[in-house]
Amino acid sequence: MRKRRVTKYTIGVDLGATNMRAGLVSEDGSIQRIRKCATKASEGPEAVADRIAGLVHKVARPQWPSVAKIGIGSPGIVDKQGTVRIPPNFPGWIEFGLAAHLKDTLSVPVIVGNDVNMVTYGEWKRGRGRGAKDLVCITLGSGVGGGIVANGQLVVGHHWGAAEIGHIVVNAKGPRCHCGNRGCVERYVGAVWIVPKVKRALAEGVPTIMRQWVNDGAVVTPRLLTQAARAGDAYSCGVLGEMGFYLGVALVSIIHLLDPELIVIGGGIARAGQPLWGPMRQTVSERVMDLPGRKVRIVRSALGDRAGIIGSAMYARERLRCGS
Ligand SMILES: [Zn+2]
Repeated sequence: MRKRRVTKYTIGVDLGATNMRAGLVSEDGSIQRIRKCATKASEGPEAVADRIAGLVHKVARPQWPSVAKIGIGSPGIVDKQGTVRIPPNFPGWIEFGLAAHLKDTLSVPVIVGNDVNMVTYGEWKRGRGRGAKDLVCITLGSGVGGGIVANGQLVVGHHWGAAEIGHIVVNAKGPRCHCGNRGCVERYVGAVWIVPKVKRALAEGVPTIMRQWVNDGAVVTPRLLTQAARAGDAYSCGVLGEMGFYLGVALVSIIHLLDPELIVIGGGIARAGQPLWGPMRQTVSERVMDLPGRKVRIVRSALGDRAGIIGSAMYARERLRCGS
């Protein structure tokens, strides 16, 4: 009798400081379903790990017996063994063997990688980067994250700290960044800096359509800024234009360092369209060194916030297949 082929699922987990999401991913990289819950990072690493285990069970049911592997994208420095060090916004979490802990709890192989590296892996294997050998992925959120694929390999660095694209210096005497350095691109593009800047401008009386919206109860977010720019608001277009300029300056350094064929940009603010992308592209084309035949494509992410789940699952499958 011929054996019926059972679909093997992999679970991809996108661990964030506020929420975690887990997706059941089939072999072709499509997500069957997603579940999410609060991370409650302040309860400490073991409690977070137990919540991940609970979420994994929830998303896996009733396919649990055929779930072969679990991949997790975690903030922080993540080594080959899946030990997570100093994830930002996880109070008291210095070092924790997340993969080892979950392997014991779930009795299934668990692979953990850095969250932006997992997003990059997703974009590479199932998103805009399919077929590329040299690509860079940038995520625009509270901060600016990065991931690199060079010569068909995910670049993690000798100390697991590669691709800190947010901390590329674009203004050596610029304002102080959280990292202690000055003038990092994140300082000009990260929502954690942009939102207070817009709030200050509103308090100072700068003319903008957002004032009316805020008076009507809207909250200042990157999305509000984008909406205002779409409505033709000059102030918002100016803010996004400056962000685009500094992002472009960082991209020039990235292109000079890595010579990628493709740069994928994701995150909410990447949806801002021309007010951001216009100055960014213009800065790149004005400043990047000309090489014969060089044509770097700069595109927006296709997978959006599913990239981390898909990437974690695909990465776990690949690592365990290779036995590395
Ligand atoms: Zn910095």
